[in-house]
Amino acid sequence: MRYDLHCHSTCSDGLLAPAEVVRRAASRGVDVLALTDHDELQGLEEAREAARETDMRLVNGTEVSVTWDDHTLHIVGLGVDPYEQGLVQGLTDIRAGRDSRARRIADALEAAGIDGAFEGARNYVTSERLISRTHFARFLVDCGHVRDIKDAFRRYLVRGKPGYTSHVWATLPQALGWIHGAGGQAVLAHPGRYDLTPTGMRRLLAEFRDAGGDAIEVLSSSHTTAQYAEYATYARVYGLKASCGSDFHGPGESRLDLGELPPMPAGVDPVWSVW
Ligand code: AMP
Ligand code: MN
Ligand code: MN
Ligand code: MN
Repeated sequence: MRYDLHCHSTCSDGLLAPAEVVRRAASRGVDVLALTDHDELQGLEEAREAARETDMRLVNGTEVSVTWDDHTLHIVGLGVDPYEQGLVQGLTDIRAGRDSRARRIADALEAAGIDGAFEGARNYVTSERLISRTHFARFLVDCGHVRDIKDAFRRYLVRGKPGYTSHVWATLPQALGWIHGAGGQAVLAHPGRYDLTPTGMRRLLAEFRDAGGDAIEVLSSSHTTAQYAEYATYARVYGLKASCGSDFHGPGESRLDLGELPPMPAGVDPVWSVW
């Protein structure tokens, strides 16, 4: 069975509509797909309709933005009830901060000599409910300020760079509470992407597990082959299940296409073992 449990649509910062994501995944041989838009559940209905026309199973997902210490973490919720009010309201509340954050990002870019970034990023927004740094990155690319999306993040949008502004998202206990309250499993997304020392990573994994976290992503487009093995070991050592997801955002923009993942390393307990 081919699982892809992390991807995005135009309901957050992906390039394809939910139905297009579903059809692309099915045509690429994915058996089980989770659509996991940032802080959002709105695309799941359209995705479910489209999945009816395929043999693929759709898992209701979301990717919750969390502030832990001074780090931003992403917690994927899998198998959530998209109509559960605690989750719906929690996500609505964290989305609400994104507009003022986008203003602050645009102000910071203006101070760095880049004008019109707010309106510019808005041109790439595909859901009135959500603006993300990816929309700023697409604006910076198309204006010729940077070569590609990666370059936009590296030069402007990550911590320490001129267009970065800090933001307070959900707390880890809140995110876990919303996901579990909606009947889902909580997965620490792309752990290899966080700027943590080995000690910091161990503290995060222990805290995540002790707070009730279920799984970590072992296979992710953010991970190197060496990190596949490293996070498989972490999953075993911390008694966490293992998940896998391409984190696909769109053709030509993502390192891995839908379903383009190697087999799960041996010895881990996959997140779907309880499905
Ligand atoms: P936001 O939730 O607005 O902070 O945006 C986060 C999104 O930006 C992530 O989900 C990715 O899609 C994208 N992103 C973050 N860091 C990078 C990076 N280094 N390269 C490419 N995309 C990135
Ligand atoms: Mn994204
Ligand atoms: Mn993420
Ligand atoms: Mn993602």
